[in-house]
Amino acid sequence: MNPTQGVPFDLPCGVFDSEGELRRKVYIRPWRAKVKRLLGKMDARKDAGKAVEIILQESIVSIEGFRTVSSALLNDMLGPDREFCALQARIMSRGPIVEADFTCLSCQYRKKGMKLDLSNIGVMGVDEFPLVRSEPEIDVRGKDTGRKVRVFDITVPGGQWDDKDSKEIKATFRIPNGADLKEVAKHVNKNPVAADWSLWSRTCLLWGEQRPPFIMSFWDNLTAYQLEALEDGFAEIDKLGPETVNYVDCDECGDENPVSIYATDFLLRLPRSRTRTR
Ligand SMILES: [Zn+2]
Repeated sequence: MNPTQGVPFDLPCGVFDSEGELRRKVYIRPWRAKVKRLLGKMDARKDAGKAVEIILQESIVSIEGFRTVSSALLNDMLGPDREFCALQARIMSRGPIVEADFTCLSCQYRKKGMKLDLSNIGVMGVDEFPLVRSEPEIDVRGKDTGRKVRVFDITVPGGQWDDKDSKEIKATFRIPNGADLKEVAKHVNKNPVAADWSLWSRTCLLWGEQRPPFIMSFWDNLTAYQLEALEDGFAEIDKLGPETVNYVDCDECGDENPVSIYATDFLLRLPRSRTRTR
């Protein structure tokens, strides 16, 4: 590998350039010691957006069709692409094996140092994902920017608590990009639910006939059914990019256990064995 050029990969989603052309070829190199200094004492889980950004700035050499890897470009990059690049950079820089302490949910059997191979992690690309489509990007004044965004729909039950079977509402959201994820990460420690609200406010393009802005209290007024539909819809979109939940068989009872692998964990620390928490 030529360290100044990096190794080519195809992004799971890709970035639209200023002409609206989709660019998917990314060149990644291993990170240098500098990364460790920049991350310093940062708690990567608490400041995931920034930690991933540091890794990406260091490890992405270029993206075909773009002159430089600017902050603006990383802001435009979709979450699944950012995770994918961080994963490849981790494999190149520190090898594919991570160790986790595992506790079986069925029998409480514990095993220290269970090994997971990151190179076996599946990656779901946007082409295999019919849920996602591209639309012209409309700015806040309602003008077409000439670029495109990736969007998906969530069908939400209409009505209030006593008439949940009334007509459905179609909601359209953008797939969250780097800028969204960094902004939302600020809320995650204080209140992860409010973080969801904030992400939805940033990415909701249409709610039935209603257009943005969607202020935070908009989501407070949803019914529990609507809330559940949104949470399920975003869980579905989380399947794009690298699989963050893997399954491991317990040595003792044979039951299958989910192991969550968070980008910030596999980059910097050990992943944790635990139930899937979104
Ligand atoms: Zn077990």
